[in-house]
Amino acid sequence: MSEHLDVLLIGVCALWGASAGRVLPRAAYRFSVPAGEEWRTACPAGHPVGGWLGPARCRACAGPPYGPRTAAVVVTALVCAALAAATGTRPELFVWLLLAPVGVLLATVDFRVQRLPDPLTLPAAAAALVLLGLTALAPEHAGSGPRPCSARSPSAPATSSSSSSIRAAWASAT
Ligand SMILES: [Zn+2]
Repeated sequence: MSEHLDVLLIGVCALWGASAGRVLPRAAYRFSVPAGEEWRTACPAGHPVGGWLGPARCRACAGPPYGPRTAAVVVTALVCAALAAATGTRPELFVWLLLAPVGVLLATVDFRVQRLPDPLTLPAAAAALVLLGLTALAPEHAGSGPRPCSARSPSAPATSSSSSSIRAAWASAT
């Protein structure tokens, strides 16, 4: 992959992370309740909060946000950019990019109330299994265990030509 494509991919993934991070604060606020309590349905002043995705800001209060704001955007963007840099243009990247915002949301809730809500962990685990299973069917995946030949030389033809040259050398030696 060329350097330009690398930078472009990382930039696009950072943008995706930033947009995903923008809609996390409301969910982070609503899920941040101690174990055994109902998920929050109202802002700190008691106005009803509708929906799960979006900024954690109450129109009725017109006050400051009651949930995470910039941090969620920055952290999710950085996580997605790091995943893009580490994974490159492989099918698994789509799975990581879908799961990363859920991971940031889980980390936020865990940080605030030391718990990982089941409505987040269970679907995320199921989605990871199904989606990673699907990427295993796609070409260019990298999840089928050790492949020493392809690890040493990423292009298959080079591997087969080197093994055929070994075979030719063996044939000429015997
Ligand atoms: Zn309010």
